[in-house]
Amino acid sequence: MEKIVSFCKRKGFIFQSSEIYGGLGGFYDYGPLGVQMKRNIKESYWKFMVNSRPNVVGLDSAIISNPRVWEASGHVSNFSDPLTECKKCHKRFRADHLMEAANVTELSGVKCPECGGELMEVREFNLMLKTFIGPVVDDSSVAYLRPETAQCIFTNFKNVLDTQRLKMPFGIAQIGKAFRNEITPGNFIFRTREFEQMEMEFFVKPGEQEEWYQYWINESMRFLTEVLGIKKENLRIKPAAKEDLAHYAIACSDIEYNFPSIGWSEIEGIASRGDYDLSQHEKFSGQELKYFDEVNHEKYIPYVIEPSIGVDRLLLALICDSYQELEKGRSGDSDSSEIVLKLNSKLSPMQFAVLPLVKNKEEITSKAKEVFALLSNSFSGEYDETGTIGKRYRRQDEIGTPYCVTVDFDTLNDNAVTVRNRDTMSQERISIDNLVDYFNKNV
Ligand code: ATP
Repeated sequence: MEKIVSFCKRKGFIFQSSEIYGGLGGFYDYGPLGVQMKRNIKESYWKFMVNSRPNVVGLDSAIISNPRVWEASGHVSNFSDPLTECKKCHKRFRADHLMEAANVTELSGVKCPECGGELMEVREFNLMLKTFIGPVVDDSSVAYLRPETAQCIFTNFKNVLDTQRLKMPFGIAQIGKAFRNEITPGNFIFRTREFEQMEMEFFVKPGEQEEWYQYWINESMRFLTEVLGIKKENLRIKPAAKEDLAHYAIACSDIEYNFPSIGWSEIEGIASRGDYDLSQHEKFSGQELKYFDEVNHEKYIPYVIEPSIGVDRLLLALICDSYQELEKGRSGDSDSSEIVLKLNSKLSPMQFAVLPLVKNKEEITSKAKEVFALLSNSFSGEYDETGTIGKRYRRQDEIGTPYCVTVDFDTLNDNAVTVRNRDTMSQERISIDNLVDYFNKNV
């Protein structure tokens, strides 16, 4: 994991937030390559979840909403983690994490992992981040930064239903920021205080939840493996034990990824939430949040299945999954090691790199710039003219660019370029007229 963290910084994927001021615990910034990769992940999700399904629509709700939302959802009273503090160094820890690490079920006897000091009694610590709205800072102006995107899907249930002519079953998906005042953020971007979620609430007729719960577990695995290309052996489904379920949940499964150093850890949760959320919002808002089935003339509060993925954890899993370090280089006889990031080509931050063979011949560089303009209409890419061609290939391999397009002297005669494949390192001569088609087919 240390290698991945330094790779992400060195290549401009992820930086510590406000690093020049010493950073801030649990916050990270995405650099030029990270932001592009994140956009590609979200784009793939949106296509898979929303654009390709006639019965799933999208939403983009505000990060801050009426605080009653969080009273109704149970977050104000229940969204907490068990906190303990060291009596000596005053560092704070998640009590459940300390017990897990010590393989015990009681905290008594467990010592501070930092200084060996005695730990205080456990208390519940609410994870919601607070702010104040308007010019007066008092209890009446308290608001919360959303700890999940899901609740505003529920509060918009009626708006979406009234405007979209949807029939049961249907879903509403949302991608957006969420905030949790985690007691111990850590493991790089695995546990942060600001992160992004991709969530979908799928509304079904009560009685049909089991079938749809299984369906969304399968679809979630299909998305991760077939659409994004994560290796199957690095993923597993972990159903929650009945006694670990939230009181309202019917069933819940986590999809875990086998991270280096961290081990098997959740990247996605799929929950069968019954009618808990809509019923609570109906009760607290006084507004009816039911579905009317015109065929059977019945009215009911739908049940909900929720697949919820963290974008940042997914991005970390994708980098871990595709990072390869070859000790003797790609050719097998080099003195130094080389890195290749074997990302699925549609997720690579740069999907192409245009490389003029030489930088001091105007006909070649201007042709290369033309090729860059042609491809950049539809794909993200780079123009790179510095260094030997071999060095430039290595640079692109490291950041996962699937295709390098070289413009050379022959291009000026045959209007064709050499396309080099990252994974096979094979090269093909492609006419510039067919280049966009080639990328459409391969990326
Ligand atoms: P954990 O048990 O690891 O704290 P959770 O069960 O509380 O996670 P959910 O509430 O199910 O997480 O949130 C759905 C998804 O959001 C998670 O699967 C994860 O990918 C992501 N997520 C949750 N908390 C964080 C966080 N602090 N940092 C980054 N991603 C997060």
